[in-house]
Amino acid sequence: MYKRLISKKRDGPIGRNKNLESFLSKEGIKRENLVRANLVHGNKITLVGKRESGVVIQGVDGLMTTDDVFLGVTVADCLPIYLFSNNFHGILHAGWRSLWSGIIKNAVKKIKRVGEDPKNVEVFIGPSIRSCHFEIKEDLVEKFSDYQSYFEKRNGKVFLSLQKVTENKFNSFGIKSVEISPECTYCNKNYFSYRRDRTSNNMLAVIGPNN
Ligand SMILES: [Zn+2]
Repeated sequence: MYKRLISKKRDGPIGRNKNLESFLSKEGIKRENLVRANLVHGNKITLVGKRESGVVIQGVDGLMTTDDVFLGVTVADCLPIYLFSNNFHGILHAGWRSLWSGIIKNAVKKIKRVGEDPKNVEVFIGPSIRSCHFEIKEDLVEKFSDYQSYFEKRNGKVFLSLQKVTENKFNSFGIKSVEISPECTYCNKNYFSYRRDRTSNNMLAVIGPNN
């Protein structure tokens, strides 16, 4: 019922205008129908509509709408989180900072504000860095101490599944339908990975109407 897309490395760094244009045209999306977020690794989500078509919203990591517009965020290891029901769709950019500072709780607040019941909502967590590669140090071990069941210890190192943390948070707010992509952006060379490549090249994740 919704298009859920993510660009690949072969589409080029999406921060470059020509790569963005060619990815969108390949997917049949008009740039003026796309609302994007300029990310800050925070917890804010904005409700947008047709009025904001073609606009880049500053200072937020999530977008939601009840209108027929496409919503996009850039990612490279962070989790692209697609949210949808019959009545709305949304997209979040979530790394550990956003998860830790409450972006999921804020998403659920916005879902209720558009009049939707969390139990009708479906979530898809797209390609992102998984516990095979997301090593954490003392500071995050402490910040995520409530989620020790999602720690994996290997060779004296600690790894965390941010996907499972996210799923757990949604479940605790009554959203039970959470699907997780098996693809790790660090493992899979078809994607850009911040931790692997140490560049600011990134992909565009998009959700929008399927027609
Ligand atoms: Zn991996």
